[in-house]
Amino acid sequence: MSLNSFFSRGPKYSEDQIKEALNALRDGIILIDKNNKIIWSNKNASEWLNLNDPFSQENIRAFFPTSDFDRFLSQSDENASLEAISPFSKSTFFSLQLIPFGETEKILVLRDITKPIRLEKVRTDFAANASHELRSPLTVISGYIDLMVEDKSIPLNWKKPIQDLAKQSERMKSVLSDLLVLFQLESESKKADEEIVDLQGIVMAVKKDCMAAKKPPKKFEVDFKDSGAILGDEVRIQSIVTNIIENALRYCDKDGEISVIWFTDAAGGHLSIRDNGIGMEEKHLERITERFYRIDKGRSRKLGGTGLGLAIVKYALQAHEATLEIKSEVGVGSEFICSFPIDRIHDEVINV
Ligand code: ADP
Repeated sequence: MSLNSFFSRGPKYSEDQIKEALNALRDGIILIDKNNKIIWSNKNASEWLNLNDPFSQENIRAFFPTSDFDRFLSQSDENASLEAISPFSKSTFFSLQLIPFGETEKILVLRDITKPIRLEKVRTDFAANASHELRSPLTVISGYIDLMVEDKSIPLNWKKPIQDLAKQSERMKSVLSDLLVLFQLESESKKADEEIVDLQGIVMAVKKDCMAAKKPPKKFEVDFKDSGAILGDEVRIQSIVTNIIENALRYCDKDGEISVIWFTDAAGGHLSIRDNGIGMEEKHLERITERFYRIDKGRSRKLGGTGLGLAIVKYALQAHEATLEIKSEVGVGSEFICSFPIDRIHDEVINV
């Protein structure tokens, strides 16, 4: 169906009435042709993009000149959406959706999401500031508690309460420190750096710490099919590896076995971290990267978990355009696969 026939066909509505209806929408509606030229834009879209003429014929790419937008334009997933900054105001944000229309045309729907984004920012800023404010007093309190733990002159009946205090203040410190890492990751929307990161070296260092833990795993295998050099941000990659491996250790009963495999294929590089631990039911898998989502709160807390590890992993992976796949079976174990895109793979061998 051509656009012309769309606007002129129909017994009930005239072209002007249809346009009027589209102009009344709160969303911005832009019809674009196969060369990405604007065929028609409704009132809101024209205003937001400073278009004097609704039939402007300008190329939509000129308004969103980013590689993300180009990728978005050429993809065919109807559910895909993209957040974009207004071309005329750094503090106005749109959510974009693309709907195929006619033979080769598309409808670009713009929604102003400035308000929810601002609210979200206020919320995270508040939480980040609260965490910062708590850090200094907590450092002082835990410092005194540590002194009391060491103090031989403290009466015997105070020993247990003081040990409990020490444990709880350690827990608070871990939660605060994970919260601060998370807020930092959330606030940095930019892509991770592209420094050469020695993934294998990071895995080996985390393995060493695991083997030195109070309850080390019975077996810890590492198998890198190549050097494992990737382009990214070392601190974030370290945090991804540490959090997933620490979980593997935390959620293994005795006789824990952990295996870490790295391999590359045409799609990119894949880091698989597998354990033979308690596993998880299918229904939890899509929620465990949410903040503070824990299947067994008691167990997580007892073992030093903060409930934030996998949320940190999720954000750190996103910054590398990487994805996380989780497979798990109760009583059998879990596998976490981090897949990095091909352009993050560095093929030069580095010395480890
Ligand atoms: P936590 O600090 O509680 O481990 P995470 O965000 O790292 O928080 O993980 C969220 C929850 O996912 C955990 O509380 C646990 O229930 C579950 N989980 C994570 N990794 C594993 C694993 N390897 N095996 C079984 N359960 C896991």
